[in-house]
Amino acid sequence: MPVLIGPITFPLLGKTRGQNFDRLSLLQKLLPIYSEVLRRLHAQGAEWVQLDEPALCLDLTPEQRAAFDVAYGQLRKAAPELKLLLATYFGDLRDNLATACQLPVNALHFDAVRSSHELDRLFAVLPPTMQLSLGVVDGRNIWRNDFESSLKLLRKAAKAIGNERLMVSPSCSLLHSPMGLKHETKFNAELKGWLAFAEEKLSEVGLLAQLVNQNGDSAALLENRKGIASRQSSPRIHNAVVKLRAEAVFAADLQRQSPFAARIAKQQARLNLPTFPTTTIGSFPQTEDVRAARARFKKGELSSADYERFLEQATTECVRWQEEVGLDVPVHGEFERNDMVEYFGEQLAGFVFTENGWVQSYGSRCVKPPIIFGDVSRPQPMTVRWAQFAQSLTRKPMKGMLTGPITILQWSFVRDDQPRSETAKQIALALRDEVRDLEVAGLAIIQIDEPALREGLPLCRSDWPEYLCWAVDAFRLAASGVRDDTQIHTHMCYCEFDDILASIAALDADVISIETSRSNMELLGAFAQFHYPNDIGPGVWDIHSPRVPSADEMLGLIHAAAKVIPKERLWLNPDCGLKTRRWEEVKPALKNLVAAANAARESLNSHLPTIN
Ligand code: GLN
Ligand code: ZN
Repeated sequence: MPVLIGPITFPLLGKTRGQNFDRLSLLQKLLPIYSEVLRRLHAQGAEWVQLDEPALCLDLTPEQRAAFDVAYGQLRKAAPELKLLLATYFGDLRDNLATACQLPVNALHFDAVRSSHELDRLFAVLPPTMQLSLGVVDGRNIWRNDFESSLKLLRKAAKAIGNERLMVSPSCSLLHSPMGLKHETKFNAELKGWLAFAEEKLSEVGLLAQLVNQNGDSAALLENRKGIASRQSSPRIHNAVVKLRAEAVFAADLQRQSPFAARIAKQQARLNLPTFPTTTIGSFPQTEDVRAARARFKKGELSSADYERFLEQATTECVRWQEEVGLDVPVHGEFERNDMVEYFGEQLAGFVFTENGWVQSYGSRCVKPPIIFGDVSRPQPMTVRWAQFAQSLTRKPMKGMLTGPITILQWSFVRDDQPRSETAKQIALALRDEVRDLEVAGLAIIQIDEPALREGLPLCRSDWPEYLCWAVDAFRLAASGVRDDTQIHTHMCYCEFDDILASIAALDADVISIETSRSNMELLGAFAQFHYPNDIGPGVWDIHSPRVPSADEMLGLIHAAAKVIPKERLWLNPDCGLKTRRWEEVKPALKNLVAAANAARESLNSHLPTIN
C-alpha cells in the first residue's frame, strides 16, 4: 500500500518561508496534484492508498476542519474506485473525531496506544462503511507489546464494529523504532525478553491478528505474559531507595535558598566578572583525533591510562587557550563526551545502550537513543573528575557542564510502566547530587543544558501546562540544592521561546544562554517584553555555519541586545556548543567575541545608550 502525507497535514505542518500566508490557500494547487497521483497509483494497480493526517491530532480551527471535507471530497471524486485509508496517530482526535469519521474514505487508522480512552466515542460514530485499523502496538517505543491489554482492545473493537471491519496495526510508522533485535548481541536474555524493535513489532501485529479470534491460552500468549510479568517484577528495574527518595521530594527542594536578586549579588561578589561576561556553551571541536582516541579506547587498543592522558592534554590545551584569549568563564571542552545524553546515560543506573539501535533524527542524521528501562540512580559522580581537573588549570571560574533531566528524558527511549514525569524526577535527583558534588569540588558556576525542553511539548495546547509544570519542577529539583553564591546556568537552542517564556523564567536559572544570532536578536524582544528577570546570554555567533563573524558584527548584535535587555544582565556567548566546528573557525571567532565584548565595555563607559 503506497503511503502519502495527507493533503491537509502537508501544508499545515510544512515549514514556510518569508511572510505569513494562509497555508490552506495552497490547496488549490495541491489537490489537483494529489488527484493525479491517486489516479496514477490506481492505474498502476494500487488497491489501497494510505494518507497520513497526523494534523487531526492537533488543535484545529473550524476552517481547517472544513478543509478536510473539501479536500477528501475532491480526492474521492478523482479516484472513486481506489480505497483510501486515512491515518491519524500520535494523539487524541478530540474535537476532530467527528471530522475524521465523516470523510469519504474506506478506512480510518487510529492510534489506540495513545488514545484508547477515545475508542467508545469512535465506535459510536464510525460509519458502517468504514473499516478501522487499530494501532495497538506502540511504534514510538521499544517495549514488547502486552498482548493481554491489546487483545482486550481488539476484542472490544471486534464486538463493536465486527471482525470484518477490523485491521490490526502498529500505532504509527515504525520509523521511530530501531530495525530489529537480531542486531543486538550484548543484551542479556531477560532484558531482550522485554523489548520489541520494528521487526518484532511486525511479528506482534501478525500474532495479535491471529489471537483475536482464539479462545484459551496459546503458546504465544503464555510466552508474552511471561515476558511482561518478568519486566513488572524484575529487581533490575525497581530500586526501593530511589522510589522512596522520589516520594520524599517537597516544594522546598525545588526552591533556591534566596530569590534571584539576592543570589546574583552574592555570585557577583564571589565571581567578580566584568560587564558582558564572555563564555561558551561547553563543547570545543570534537576533532578527528579526539574521536579516534575514543574509538581506540573503546576497542581496547588504547589503555585507560593513555586515554586519560590524551584527554588531560586536550582539556589543558583548551583551557589554556581560553585563558590566553581572555574568555571570562572558561569550560573544560567536553572532549571526554561522545554525546550529551549518552555520556550521562552510560554512567547512570537504569539505562542500557544498543549496539545498532539507530533511528532517524532528521534528514539523513541518525541517533542511537539510550533505553531507560529502570529506576534511575547515580552510582558515583559523573563529571566531577574533569570539571575539577579543568578548574585546577585556571584561577578563572570554570563552568561545570551537565545535561538536564528533560533533555536526557526526551532523547532516550523511556520506560512506559510509569509516567514520564516520574522518570524525569528520578533523573533530576541524580543530577541534583551531581550539581552538589560539583559545588563541593569548588565549581562556582554550573550549567544544566535543556535544549530539548520545548520539543517535549504535547501536541495539544491544553496539555501544555501539565507537561511544563513537571518539566520545570525536574529542572528546579536538579538545580536548587546549591548555595546562593553558586551560579546556575542553563542553555537552550533550536527553539522558539515566545509562548513558553513563563516556564523558562520559572526555571529560575541565574543565567540562560539562547540561540539568537540567526534571528538577529529578534528573539530577545520576547524576553524583554516579558520582563524576563534573570541574566541572559544571547548567542552572537551562528555556530551552524563555518562563517567566522567579525568583531564589528558581534558588536552590532550586542548593541541590539543592549537596547532591549539591561546591560548588567547581558552575557556574551556563541549560539551553541562548538563540537561540530573546526579550531580554524573557533579560534578567530572567539577572539572576535572577546574583542567585541571589550569594545562594548569601552563604549559603555562613553556613550552606549542604556535602557533603564
Ligand atoms: N553543552 C553542550 C555543548 O556545548 C550543549 C549542546 C546543545 O545545546 N545541543 O555541546
Ligand atoms: Zn545548544
